[in-house]
Amino acid sequence: MDKITVPFIMGDGVGVEVTPSMQAIVNAAVQKAYSGQRQIEWMEVWAGERAFKKCGLWLPDETMEAFRDYKVGIKGPLTTPVGGGIRSLNVALRQTLDLYVCLRPVRWYQGIHSPVRHPEKVNMCVFRENTEDIYAGIEWEAGTPEAEKFYRFLHDEMGVTKVRFPNTSSFGVKPVSKEGTERLVRAACRYALENKLPSVTLVHKGNIMKFTEGGFKKWGYELAEREFGEALADGRLVIKDCIADAFLQNTLLIPEEYSVIATLNLNGDYVSDQLAAMVGGIGIAPGANINYQTGHAIFEATHGTAPNIAGKDIVNPCSIILSAVMMLEYLGWKEPASLIEHALERSFLDARATADLARFMPGGVSLSTSAFTREIVERI
Ligand code: NAD
Repeated sequence: MDKITVPFIMGDGVGVEVTPSMQAIVNAAVQKAYSGQRQIEWMEVWAGERAFKKCGLWLPDETMEAFRDYKVGIKGPLTTPVGGGIRSLNVALRQTLDLYVCLRPVRWYQGIHSPVRHPEKVNMCVFRENTEDIYAGIEWEAGTPEAEKFYRFLHDEMGVTKVRFPNTSSFGVKPVSKEGTERLVRAACRYALENKLPSVTLVHKGNIMKFTEGGFKKWGYELAEREFGEALADGRLVIKDCIADAFLQNTLLIPEEYSVIATLNLNGDYVSDQLAAMVGGIGIAPGANINYQTGHAIFEATHGTAPNIAGKDIVNPCSIILSAVMMLEYLGWKEPASLIEHALERSFLDARATADLARFMPGGVSLSTSAFTREIVERI
């Protein structure tokens, strides 16, 4: 028998509702697909408020070790600690394992209410760079000695005279590297080829930020030519680029022209939320953080801990369920992945979903989290 151990973080707030829902559905699908020949052994590891209450630590070393050792894991949403030296647990997990791709597939499910007329034309997979850019957290607050020192360096040693209000400016640094760009664009091109997708679009603001975002575009094209030249020549892959603001317009006007998107950290944040909103999936959008070189991957619910609805049995568990679908595909367990996706699709088509979705469906039936979970398990 093929048994795989998957470490999981239950998560805070609604995490304790969505994570067990996901596990019940995954277990049912794996059992149906493989009749006991393959099995997932879930191993709980601790992080967030649950960990803090248990052992006084927000992110115990054993949790990091489990993700490092077992390579592929999944997590519910975590409360961001206030103070205490950790800016964000999610960032700490990503940085420690160098999970450089934030992967966000975006597609529409029939039955889901969308604010656009043709949500079925949106079918994209966003590869957002996860470790660099203005999000690297290198910044100094206005009025601090550090901001003053940084400004003096810019002014006195670099000859920068363009800072309009130096005494009241905060400063941030935007590192974008050739290596960082190349590994992201390589992952996006490989994904496109493996999944027979037509194109990779580099989304950037290289017209304004010439060396950082412009570098991303230049290094991205060069990498594609060098490593995927054959696929480009025989038409299996097209590589193109789009300025970020134009891209956001085009996603509304001509979404069918885009497939795999490779972009920098900040752009990727905006782009993935806009696309998710276009398919009505902001609350159910799945995601993963992956290092394709080491194989490490953490799949995750993309929403937060939703304290306002926690414990009420009304939360929508689809984000972490669809993230588990991505995880099964990543593991090569395609059969249970498609069983789950089809079960969800059929339930949405029948207008049966949790209240956040059902209330927009004509004749929608609102199910509690536990009733929805049972419904999906039965449909598998
Ligand atoms: P949130 O995503 O928790 O909630 C925003 C709104 O969306 C709320 O009204 C909530 O009820 C609703 N909502 C979210 N997920 C839902 C679901 N699955 N089904 C139905 N409704 C849902 O964002 P927030 O309130 O800004 O953050 C709350 C906490 O979560 C904070 O501590 C924040 O730092 C943390 N957070 C964690 C993650 C993560 O771990 N990935 C992501 C975002 C926020």
